[in-house]
Amino acid sequence: MWTQRLLIRRHYLPSSSRAASGLTQRKYDVIVVGGGHAGTEAAAAATRVGAETLLITQKIQTIGALSCNPSLGGVGKGHLVREVDALDGLMGRAGDFAGVHFSILNRSKGPAVWGPRAQLDRCRYREFIQSELLSMPRLTVVEGSVEDLLMSAADPEQPGKHSVTGVRMAEGGGEILSRSVVLTTGTFLSGSLFMGQVTSPGGRMGDPPSCAGLSHSLREVLGLKVGRLRTGTPPRIIKETVDLTLAKLHLPDPQPTPFSFINTHTHCKPEEQLPCYLTHTTAGVDRVVKESLHLNTHIQQDTKGPRYCPSIESRVLRFPGRQHQVWLEPEGLTSDLLYPQGLSMTMPPEMQLRLLREIPALHRAEIRTPGYGVQYDFVCPTQLFPWLQVKTVQGLFLAGQINGTTGYEEAAAQGLWAGVNAGRTALSRPPLSLSRTQSYIGVLIDDLVSRGVTEPYRMFTSRAEFRTSLRPDNADLRLTLKGFEEIGCVSPRRYSEVVRVRENLNEALSVLQSISMSSARWRDRLGHFHMSESKSSPVSGEEVLQYKDVSFEMLASAFPEVLSQYVEFSQRLKIEAVYRPHCEKQKREMNRIQEEESLSLPQDIDYFSLPVSLSQEVREILDRVRPSTLGAATRLPGMTPAAIVHLLNYVRRSR
Ligand code: FAD
Repeated sequence: MWTQRLLIRRHYLPSSSRAASGLTQRKYDVIVVGGGHAGTEAAAAATRVGAETLLITQKIQTIGALSCNPSLGGVGKGHLVREVDALDGLMGRAGDFAGVHFSILNRSKGPAVWGPRAQLDRCRYREFIQSELLSMPRLTVVEGSVEDLLMSAADPEQPGKHSVTGVRMAEGGGEILSRSVVLTTGTFLSGSLFMGQVTSPGGRMGDPPSCAGLSHSLREVLGLKVGRLRTGTPPRIIKETVDLTLAKLHLPDPQPTPFSFINTHTHCKPEEQLPCYLTHTTAGVDRVVKESLHLNTHIQQDTKGPRYCPSIESRVLRFPGRQHQVWLEPEGLTSDLLYPQGLSMTMPPEMQLRLLREIPALHRAEIRTPGYGVQYDFVCPTQLFPWLQVKTVQGLFLAGQINGTTGYEEAAAQGLWAGVNAGRTALSRPPLSLSRTQSYIGVLIDDLVSRGVTEPYRMFTSRAEFRTSLRPDNADLRLTLKGFEEIGCVSPRRYSEVVRVRENLNEALSVLQSISMSSARWRDRLGHFHMSESKSSPVSGEEVLQYKDVSFEMLASAFPEVLSQYVEFSQRLKIEAVYRPHCEKQKREMNRIQEEESLSLPQDIDYFSLPVSLSQEVREILDRVRPSTLGAATRLPGMTPAAIVHLLNYVRRSR
């Protein structure tokens, strides 16, 4: 299976022959602009819901490129990968194919906040994504640059409202029509690259920025609020110049855990995995940062960068004198490079080399490509509906870094959801939103559209109120069934597998509940285990399984005739049993919130003249953000419980 995937079908056409290929003579359901992590998931999801889709990207060879770190998942981000996979997205399977070092982060905490993570082989990741996309039915992939959006004239009845009708290609490539467009331009919208005092236009090193027309249309024609953010990447170091004996070895998990629910193993065998190494900065690093500040344009600007993935310059300036961790991570199975995570920097290349050599393990290090920074435009995401369509432009969807997020996983999650909805809209089906009670994708999108961003947004488990229910292990039960039955983006094969899993889990839990006996008899059966108090009433098998030192395998050995058939689900059953009491409590809470969340707030509501008791400040917030549901209004910064009650009563009265 894996080798077949490597045979990429290069059936695309060079841009010059595109017009002749007939692209400009037909109307697509969906056009996706950009082949990054958001764009690839958007294109794949749109085709899965049945839409004829065209993916246009600057370079086919960079589809699926990992612009910065060669890794996937982590705490919170790993949940997103599992959810994208549960909805039949590409990212989880690509991670299983390309991973070279798998580990579950946060293992000392409960499984609800475990973070599946892997170091990736960059080339393999790209190969997998390209091979999947280039062989997908209903999907055409072309190389080229979109210069502008095509819009129908604003409806005189609805001033300020537009409808997107397609895109205009750069370099006279013509116009291509579609019912929906998904923009996923990442760091490319008005992108500028920074290294030392040199600034040049670009979306990523080696790639030009998006055409200026696109940015102009979003700002001037559509009147969207656009902001500016920045990020950066470290130099890549030649591995053989690093003294790894001076760094601490960090081994992967002995048994890799796949990201995808449909994979039982990863492509990389356990024994083939590569190690990472940990080292630290020194006082010399602080010195070089300070000495190079006047030569570092990127760091002198006040554009906001990613707080949780800061450059070494920002770290040194915020915490002078502190030692900072530097992870030396493999770039791939055959790569001769190491990626120094924690050393993103934008000083001149000669200063970068000086800085690296202040770290003992890197005292002879040589750089293959220097670090650099990028600044780019993003569209303030409060201007989007929860289905990621721009509120004032019918058919125009935005996903990924363009919405102010950072990270591959955040981009992929939005891309998938925008693709689903762009496809559904084009096929005249109603758009859908995911609630924050159902998924981290719902949390991510709700945070973006209802709160907006002031700095690059990254996912954490702490952002999810219902994290004991939204676990990485149960993303399939939460989303795959819905994905098939309601959304239409999941294949029958994946669906039937999850139905099988659900039936087995339910059966096994019923059997566990039906086995009931005194604590003394349980001890006789299982041997000694720590039961907190000697209960006089009978204890069920499910309750016993909640004890830390009891595994499902122990119960299956004690009752093989009724439980051994479920051993394949041992870990899931243990987690289900432990979390069930918390989840049931949360479910009651969720139902209450869901009732309120689903209450729509009319989009034409005039908050300034609403005849209810709301402060001027609250009216301004509501008018600016225009939340689409009461649930979204509840979470707006500055909203008061009293204001929500007034709003709730008003909407109920006026229905
Ligand atoms: P991208 O992956 O940027 O993809 C955009 C795609 O759109 C590209 O393929 C581009 O060619 C295409 N495109 C753009 N405009 C057009 C057009 N007009 N026509 C056709 N195609 C177009 N994330 C982190 O989490 N941590 C980090 O430390 C970090 N550092 C980064 C450092 C750098 C230098 C860069 C460039 C990115 C960094 N990122 C980091 C961000 C990470 O790469 C993104 O979050 C992620 O790739 C976003 O995915 P995306 O699909 O939104 O956009």
